[in-house]
Amino acid sequence: MTTPTNYDTLHARDRAAVMPTYGRAPVAMVRGSGITLWDSEGREYLDFISGLAVTALGHAHPDVTAAIAQQAATLTHVSNLYLTEPMLDVAERLQQHLGWPDGKVFFCNSGAEAVEAALKIARRHGRAISADKVDVVALHGGFHGRTLGALAVTANPAKRDPFQPLGAWATHVAHDDVVALEAAVTERTCAVIIEPVQGEGGVWVVPDEMWVAARAACDRVGALLIADEIQTAFGRLGIWFGWQRTGVVPDVVTVAKALGNGLPIGAAVAHGQAAQALQPGDHGTTFGGGPVVCAAARTVLDVIVRDGLIEHAAAMGKELEARLDAVIEASPLAVGRRGLGLLQVLELSPDVAADVVTAALAQGLMINNVLPNALRMAPPLTVQPEDLDLMAQRLSQALAAVAKDIEAGQGARS
Ligand SMILES: *Cc1c(COP(=O)(O)O)cnc(C)c1O
Repeated sequence: MTTPTNYDTLHARDRAAVMPTYGRAPVAMVRGSGITLWDSEGREYLDFISGLAVTALGHAHPDVTAAIAQQAATLTHVSNLYLTEPMLDVAERLQQHLGWPDGKVFFCNSGAEAVEAALKIARRHGRAISADKVDVVALHGGFHGRTLGALAVTANPAKRDPFQPLGAWATHVAHDDVVALEAAVTERTCAVIIEPVQGEGGVWVVPDEMWVAARAACDRVGALLIADEIQTAFGRLGIWFGWQRTGVVPDVVTVAKALGNGLPIGAAVAHGQAAQALQPGDHGTTFGGGPVVCAAARTVLDVIVRDGLIEHAAAMGKELEARLDAVIEASPLAVGRRGLGLLQVLELSPDVAADVVTAALAQGLMINNVLPNALRMAPPLTVQPEDLDLMAQRLSQALAAVAKDIEAGQGARS
């Protein structure tokens, strides 16, 4: 009998005490620094997923760590019964980076909650016009979160169906079908919600024409346009916010993931008329806008500016594309890529993404299979050219290992 590893012990405890909602890779992470992680067995990994586009400044960023420690030692929590300054610092920075001096921020604790806030803003806005102006139009391939409201606007049947009924107020159109979008928006519509790049759905870039059509349709019926930038904001696409590259200005933006570099913070930001929709008592949360998460977020935003990380991410996005092109050239399994900036997928044929993820992990590279034929990469904004080289090397080895298995007749996992 072999002695159980640290991982075996942790895995047994996970099975015994934690709900089995996640399909986890068979590793337990214990420490991180920059783009590198170490597991319970002391193995080292290159992190090209960033905790699902969260740790944009890398792990254990010294400035963020110091800000958290200092705030935790000063004031951790008082609730929204009282004012605290770190929250104001983040709200003002969001106004500034969005270019919305009249923007108003609602702070919460996750992406799904930011979407809920945006949907409640839209409901309140719609119902002020007419009692039945409550419908929301969203896109197939979109992902907006797992709470019931956010799930109602998420199209994915696998995620929705076990939890029906979710209400008849949300409808979906294809992510590139302008005509269907125009037809779906009616006088009953209070909002259209769109991600600039559909992250969880498989990294599909939503065409600019869809934004233009959504804006026009919303203006036609007096509905709000919500940009769900939970995955795409703060430089992930090589620009502060994805909507800024479309020429279309939304009424509400939702953010979360990268804002706290790993601490749980989300926000819905509205401007213009939408900023007036929620009134005292309409919405709230105990933890939202707390001093520790806001101290982290304030530092994240300041480091992005100080270190020129938006420009850096744009440049590294181009380099990432070049590395992926070289991989496509060299590996028969890799057939294409899509994405923007530092949110990219490598397209595979056949559907072996799960096998490549497993093989890559064995090579010390963390990526994820966002679809059966698509490998997602979302490295930190601080990624360097030498990290991209190492990624390409490990990815090529992983692809070669899977290709060899296929040749040996073991094929893709079904
Ligand atoms: C991750 C994500 C969410 C949900 O965020 P959670 O923090 O997991 O609730 C919503 N919308 C988009 C676009 C996301 O990428």
